[in-house]
Amino acid sequence: MTDNFNICIIGAGAVGCAIAQQLSKYELNVCVIDKEEDVCSGTTKANSAIVHAGFDAVPGTLKAKMNVRGAELIRQLSKTLDFQYKQNGSLVLCFDENDMPKLNELYERGIKNGVSELSIISGDEARKLEPALSDKVVAALLAKSAGIVCPFGMTFAFAENAAANGVQFRFLTEVSDIKADGNGYVISTNKGDIKAKYVVNAAGVYSDRLHNAVLDDKIKIIPRRGEYVLLDKDTGDLVSHTVFQLPTKYGKGVLVTPTVHGNLLVGPSADDIDDREDTQTTAAGTVSVKERALMSVPDIPYNKTITGFSGVRAHLDSGDFIIGETKDGFFDAAGVESPGLTAAPAIGEYLALMIVKKCGAKKKDNYISTRKNIPHVAELAPDERTKLIKQNPKYGNIICRCENISEGEIVDAIHRVPGAVSLDGIKRRVRQGMGRCQAGFCTPAAIAILARELKIDEKDVAKNRPGSEQIKESL
Ligand SMILES: Cc1cc2nc3c(=O)[nH]c(=O)nc-3n(C[C@H](O)[C@H](O)[C@H](O)COP(=O)(O)OP(=O)(O)OC[C@H]3O[C@@H](n4cnc5c(N)ncnc54)[C@H](O)[C@@H]3O)c2cc1C
Repeated sequence: MTDNFNICIIGAGAVGCAIAQQLSKYELNVCVIDKEEDVCSGTTKANSAIVHAGFDAVPGTLKAKMNVRGAELIRQLSKTLDFQYKQNGSLVLCFDENDMPKLNELYERGIKNGVSELSIISGDEARKLEPALSDKVVAALLAKSAGIVCPFGMTFAFAENAAANGVQFRFLTEVSDIKADGNGYVISTNKGDIKAKYVVNAAGVYSDRLHNAVLDDKIKIIPRRGEYVLLDKDTGDLVSHTVFQLPTKYGKGVLVTPTVHGNLLVGPSADDIDDREDTQTTAAGTVSVKERALMSVPDIPYNKTITGFSGVRAHLDSGDFIIGETKDGFFDAAGVESPGLTAAPAIGEYLALMIVKKCGAKKKDNYISTRKNIPHVAELAPDERTKLIKQNPKYGNIICRCENISEGEIVDAIHRVPGAVSLDGIKRRVRQGMGRCQAGFCTPAAIAILARELKIDEKDVAKNRPGSEQIKESL
């Protein structure tokens, strides 16, 4: 079977979905394919979730441009596409007067990159903003425009808005090769060939493989793992800003930050690894991030830790993103490491404009520009909640007690387009299983709901990709 599209985007992470969302404004036949079972299953699912202000990247690079524009777009899109974002500001801490030139350099970079509301403050001023900071802080770079976002929420919002405007999503579809055929490209997958006039490579840590299948100029992604420690919600107000340390050659150092959901997040480490899928956490990584974070905030209550996780960066030695038409009709969004989450909507805007210019597509008259998220019933005003439960009693049946998630929200997650087909898909859409017990209590109920709604056997309900089914035949 061969399917024909104007544009095929490979990768349904933040970047691929942002490109799809932007392209869905135009009269184009677009598909997004991903080797996993759902949107947001790669690096986008495990990162610091910071909307970087933009003082880190070298002025003039694509990283710098996409970061600053992306941060602005996230602020706007969080309103129209209804995902969680908070402008909480960030601090980069300096612990040694001798390091002040490095702090000043970040400030200068930020100014050159066009970051607004940037200033250097004293250690005492920093502690006034954040009383939990160490006495050893001598100065800090304050960036009021930095923020935090729900990476899942943002990516689902892009995907759902794209789907509402006609973009097709295909999952468990792995690309093995791409060949030019004189009139576009033939994309070989495990589900048959797909033909597309234009191809967009947004394959994250695998973006080098797709790039190298088409171009003679080879690139190499170095998978760089970052490990985190996540603390319970009653610790989320220990700091209100995102607290960085002055960067090292391995990245931005260890941060301490609240999340948009009220948890406290500590991390990440930075270790180059061989296996791009290796998202294990290690004792050494956990100890290292915990200890380094104490330099910034000495009283982190690690006894409130609820889980650890890790994500893998798509690092390129060149240091910049590769974004643009790298061969006739083939567009790269490769090597999109941090600040790739922040940059995603800007990459989407940039590449979509480039593609539209090339193919001359017209804007749709009936483009749907807004999208509403699934209501979190527990956070609604009492009269609204009562009304909703009267309309549909499933909203009154709490399944996840840690996060107060109802059956109605889980059913909604399954019937969104694209919808959840796995336990992780539900978790990322409505936070069932994200709380203190980490799904220990509510997994059986979630399996039963998935099986009922998808009309499949409970034994076929998986955590994520096929092979991760939770119920095994008894021996
Ligand atoms: C530890 C860490 C911390 C970070 N912190 C931040 C931060 O605070 N702020 C920030 O802005 N950025 C941060 N980032 C960077 C950010 O997470 C990434 O840049 C961003 O998520 C990349 O999105 P993506 O869509 O390019 O990749 P992914 O989300 O990885 O998406 C790529 C998709 O392509 C699919 N795919 C791959 N190969 C194939 C194939 N052959 N066929 C079909 N599908 C395929 C994958 O399954 C995947 O779903 C961090 C990253 C890490 C690892």
